[in-house]
Parts: sequence; structure tokens; C-alpha cells
Amino acid sequence: MTDIFDGRGKGLEEEYFHRQNQEAIEKLRAKMQAAVKAKPAGASTMKCPRCDGQLHEIKFEDVAIDTCDKCGGCWFDSGELAQLTRPASGGWFSRLLNSWNPK
Ligand SMILES: [Zn+2]
Repeated sequence: MTDIFDGRGKGLEEEYFHRQNQEAIEKLRAKMQAAVKAKPAGASTMKCPRCDGQLHEIKFEDVAIDTCDKCGGCWFDSGELAQLTRPASGGWFSRLLNSWNPK
């Protein structure tokens, strides 16, 4: 009998964290799209390494990220990914990690 409740509790917990992750991802996606839309027209001279699209530089969390207008790819210069993922930075990655382990 307790196994049923343990399984249900575990399922509810997994569902909760899945929902939390989905909400965090949706928030980041909306923020990223807003940053792309806020960028005034003007392309850099760089082409996307994946396709033949034009790269545009956007500012996200105080980091300049190159985004492709064709495939939607995001490209980081040296050190930019580390800047976004540094735990003490309070950047989106550390906030996402903290949302997974609320204490
Ligand atoms: Zn591309």
C-alpha cells in the first residue's frame, strides 16, 4: 500500500520538476526572443557557421550573443558562455540551476 503512495509521490515530484523546468525554459525563450526583437536592424559581417544565414548581435544578460536570422542558432565568443554559466554571476544558467534545487 505504501509503495503505491511512494510511487505516486515520486511521480508528482517528477511532474513538478518537469513543469518547473518547462516554465524556466519558456521564460528564457521569451526573454531571448524579446532581446532579438529589441535589436535594431543591422547585421554584422559574419555568416552563420551552420547555414548561410546572417549573424546579428544581441545583448542578453549583459553578454553579446551572435544569433542567426535563418536557423536561429546562437553563437558565443570566447568566455561568453562561461560568463553566462558562472554560478556567482546570477545569470540565467545559475538561476535555472537554482530553480531545480529550491531550498
Ligand atoms: Zn544559421
